[in-house]
Amino acid sequence: MKVLVTGGAGFIGSHIVDLLIEKSYQVTVVDNLSSGKRENVNTQADLVVKDIRDNDLINLFEILRPDYVIHQAAQVSVPRSLNDPLEDAQTNILGLINVLECCRKTGVRKVVFASSAAVYGNPEYLPVDESHPCNPLSPYGISKHTASYYFKIYQELYGLDYDVLRYANVYGPRQDHLGEGGVVTIFINKLLAGEQPVIFGDGNQTRDFVYVGDVARANVIGMEASGCQVVNISTGKEVTVNELYGTIKDELGSKMAPAYSQPRAGDIYRSCLDNSAARKMLGWQPEILLGEGIKKTISFFHNIRLT
Ligand code: NAD
Repeated sequence: MKVLVTGGAGFIGSHIVDLLIEKSYQVTVVDNLSSGKRENVNTQADLVVKDIRDNDLINLFEILRPDYVIHQAAQVSVPRSLNDPLEDAQTNILGLINVLECCRKTGVRKVVFASSAAVYGNPEYLPVDESHPCNPLSPYGISKHTASYYFKIYQELYGLDYDVLRYANVYGPRQDHLGEGGVVTIFINKLLAGEQPVIFGDGNQTRDFVYVGDVARANVIGMEASGCQVVNISTGKEVTVNELYGTIKDELGSKMAPAYSQPRAGDIYRSCLDNSAARKMLGWQPEILLGEGIKKTISFFHNIRLT
């Protein structure tokens, strides 16, 4: 079976590619390497350096004839989407439509899509389930939410199956540590460098941290499942930023206290996604506890610093 992974040179996409290769799928990655890296791509996968907005993307689909598409490529930054909403929409909406058109024209069976907790906006209750109202607070959240309407329409009009996976805060090896990165990556790399990490606000704000290997598994399970699902991919557990910091600091044996600064404008105070639907509809559940995931992530960044 042939799988095309867009954004497969990126953080989450490259873990999906590794899992697909492990399961003996024939994998092609399409990535413009804007934030992804060539070295992230499994050597047994083919990498095509290409933008998902390119008019001739169809030529690649016609040659490859993939059975499935896992669509991870995106403009991934909320702040950047606020600064440049046009660029966000060009990749996250027009790029998506280009991919969907290619899928429709070449008979792809199913598309799995990387959506986000950002579609929900400020939680009206916790944990947030899939029936929670969608009130995105940024162009990024709007583009991820808009995508789900396109999936619905393509299923109704052309019978193209899909899963929309709404990820919580994903962390793990290969998350960008030079760019915006996630908070786990930032804390680890600051502490490894002997620098003091900054916590915005009082540190009692919560997030739902899900390990990248669990997210990759959800994508492959979704791809192999029949029908269409819109589900949260999360741990369903709220962890404060102070607790997260403590876990990382203890694991590294560091005594460094964090610095505290003003909360960032627009940051949600509490965030946690209910994962009951993914458990029920996909038979997926997270397997890596936070402490274990932090260990794996530290070991990855530690090794990078040694090479
Ligand atoms: P990432 O930046 O590591 O991966 C995105 C990949 O897409 C990169 O390899 C990049 O080069 C590629 N890309 C970007 N624009 C492209 C284009 N126009 N054409 C071709 N390739 C392009 O980010 P990530 O964290 O791995 O995110 C993967 C997906 O998961 C994204 O859709 C993101 O919105 C979503 N997501 C991530 C998180 C998280 O916590 N990391 C949470 C929710 C949703």
